[in-house]
Amino acid sequence: MKTVAIYPGTFDPITNGHVDLIKRAAFIYPKVIVLVAADTRKECMFSMEERVRMVREGIHDLCPNVQVEPFQGLLVEIVKKHGAKIILRGLRAVSDFEYESQMALMNRRLEKGIETFFMISSEEYAYLSSSFVKEIASLGGEVRTLVPSGVDKELRKRFTLA
Ligand code: ADP
Repeated sequence: MKTVAIYPGTFDPITNGHVDLIKRAAFIYPKVIVLVAADTRKECMFSMEERVRMVREGIHDLCPNVQVEPFQGLLVEIVKKHGAKIILRGLRAVSDFEYESQMALMNRRLEKGIETFFMISSEEYAYLSSSFVKEIASLGGEVRTLVPSGVDKELRKRFTLA
């Protein structure tokens, strides 16, 4: 049976840091499922449909073994439904660690057999976050090198940049 790794997130919007992590994961695992969260503690700028579309466009043809799906509800339940045991998350700075470790421990408490594996971000993307991208774009800054081209287009539309 193929090992399936689940990469959940808000992806509001997907950045090149996420894409890099997905590509590296797809090189290791036979199948990676990117789950785009509906229920989130954060208020999203993009709708779930928009976020899913931008993730699909951002990684299409890069990784044939990657599937992208929306998800709602308890993560461990969806992970089980996919017959998976691995949750992937990315770590940039030490500041990510506290929240990520709490979430990993809570998910393990909810479902013993599921492990969270962490991937350190690539150096060039260590400071890249969706929130920075939105802030820069909203102020008229250039984000073309930080996000897939479809996301750049969406942000330009949203902030009516040239
Ligand atoms: P969240 O799921 O907390 O809303 P995101 O959707 O932004 O956060 O990110 C999903 C996962 O990807 C998180 O584990 C986050 O730490 C990680 N991540 C975000 N940006 C990067 C990056 N530039 N490089 C590596 N991992 C990242």
